[in-house]
Amino acid sequence: MSLVSTRQLLDEAAKGGYGVGAFNVNDMEQIQAIMEAAKETQSPVIIQASRGARAFAQDNYLYHLILAANELYPEIPIAMHLDHGNSYETCVSAIKLGFTSVMMDGSLKPDGKTPSTFQENVEVTRKVVDYAHERGIAVEGEIGVLGGIEDGHGAGGSGLDHVTDPDQAVEFAELTGVDSLAIAIGTSHGAYKFTKKPDGSVLKMDLLIAIHKRLPKTHLVMHGSSSVPKDLQDIVNQYGGKLRETWGVPVEEIQLGIKNGVRKVNVDTDNRLAITGAIRKVLWETPEKFDPRDYMKPARAAMQKVVALRMTQFGQAGHAGDYKPISIADMAKGYANGTLVTKPLVAAK
Ligand SMILES: [Zn+2]
Repeated sequence: MSLVSTRQLLDEAAKGGYGVGAFNVNDMEQIQAIMEAAKETQSPVIIQASRGARAFAQDNYLYHLILAANELYPEIPIAMHLDHGNSYETCVSAIKLGFTSVMMDGSLKPDGKTPSTFQENVEVTRKVVDYAHERGIAVEGEIGVLGGIEDGHGAGGSGLDHVTDPDQAVEFAELTGVDSLAIAIGTSHGAYKFTKKPDGSVLKMDLLIAIHKRLPKTHLVMHGSSSVPKDLQDIVNQYGGKLRETWGVPVEEIQLGIKNGVRKVNVDTDNRLAITGAIRKVLWETPEKFDPRDYMKPARAAMQKVVALRMTQFGQAGHAGDYKPISIADMAKGYANGTLVTKPLVAAK
């Protein structure tokens, strides 16, 4: 099986009424953990790399590791996605490398910190969509600004500073022709999302539902959607870590999102916590050990466990064999001849 377009993967998820986890990777062990979880649960999967990951691993390593995954797990549909592209040039370089979808995060200026204007966001996203669709590559846009900072990317502050306006979401989808849309409903990047257990007052689920009603066919994306479970925090702290008490996005809230048009759910922090906890435990309990495999193996297994659980909770488990991949060349034809609709279906208010 060749790498699959994220658009096809999300179209299938919409048909099946489930969500797909998009898991961030920086190295071989994380890719192995995701692929073993996908095999275990028979899930289609989105592997995503941020600019930080590309800088850390180097593009060629990342790309060839994902190709290796594709060779080793031919039965699993894999999409390779650029997380938070900050400029047209970054997105083009990812497409040239072989990514099957890119996120153009035009909600921020190219510095990845300063919120941009609506017009600037539309212009750069439209430019990326034109370039990408011609080559069969899918594009995720963002409207509204997420809170927090991760990998040096983000406006900081609370997730409630710039929540998405439903009217702007509709206008943005119409003007840009994006395949999927990340919306800001109060979530933040990183581990410190909420200082109390989140409820209706911190996560704007009503906003998500309103946007889905207006854009029933647009695939919505939830960023900053780690659940930051207490048991993973506890393992880190039990073995010498110093995490402050914090809360993530409850899985039930994500599942409510999936019932209301969310098709892609970004998870990174939970995996980071699982890996760090497992490594700390080995080094704490057996300080005489120095073979990296002694702690990388349990770290990989800990991440696999979290990923497999999320795959089951998001509903993608069991769907790996549902469909045959459409080639990227055929995706390009689909965009050109209008079979792959890019004008969103807009429902009345
Ligand atoms: Zn994000």
